[in-house]
Amino acid sequence: MRITDNRYAGEMSKFNLAVRMIGHEARTGTIRACTGFSEDRIRKIYATYFKSGKDNQVKRRRGKSPTQIAAFISSSGRQSEATVLACLFLYCGVMRLNDAEGTVVRKHLDPVGLGERICDAFETYRSVHPNPGLCFERTWNLFNALTREQELFFAACADCGGPYIQDRYALDYQRCPFCEIKQGD
Ligand SMILES: [Zn+2]
Repeated sequence: MRITDNRYAGEMSKFNLAVRMIGHEARTGTIRACTGFSEDRIRKIYATYFKSGKDNQVKRRRGKSPTQIAAFISSSGRQSEATVLACLFLYCGVMRLNDAEGTVVRKHLDPVGLGERICDAFETYRSVHPNPGLCFERTWNLFNALTREQELFFAACADCGGPYIQDRYALDYQRCPFCEIKQGD
C-alpha cells in the first residue's frame, strides 16, 4: 500500500467512526477525541448526513460528558446494565481484568480503534437490552470510571459468585443486581 492509500484508508476510518458516533448521539468532544476532527468538520458531517434527513431522530450533543458514577449504581436495574456493558468492554478488547481486587486495565489502542470498539460494545448492549437506560456518553463515562479513575470495579457476589459493577467507596452488601432483581420477584 502506498503512503497516500494508507492516508486515505485512515481518513475513511475516521470519517466512518465520526458518522457512527454522531448516530449514537455522542458529544462533539468525544468524537473529537477519537477522530481528531475539528468541531467545524463534525458539525458539517452532522449537517450533511443527519440534519437533512426527513425523519431525523439524531440530536447533536454539545457540552461536557456526564461524569457522575451514581447513574451506574442507583438501582439494581442500572447496576445490571452497567455490569453487562463492562463485560462487553472486556469482550470487545478495550480493557482487561487486573488480577487483583476486580480492577481493570485499559488496553493500548489508538483513538480510532478505541472509538470503534466502544461503539461495538454499545451497539451490542443496545441490541440485547429491551429497554436500554444508558446512552453512548454514559457508556463512555463508564469506561473512564473503570479504567481511568478506577472508582468502579468488579465486585463478586456472595450469593451466586458472579461479578458485578460496584462503587469502590459505597457500602457493599456483596449481592449482585441480578440476585437483587431475582429476590424482588
Ligand atoms: Zn448474585
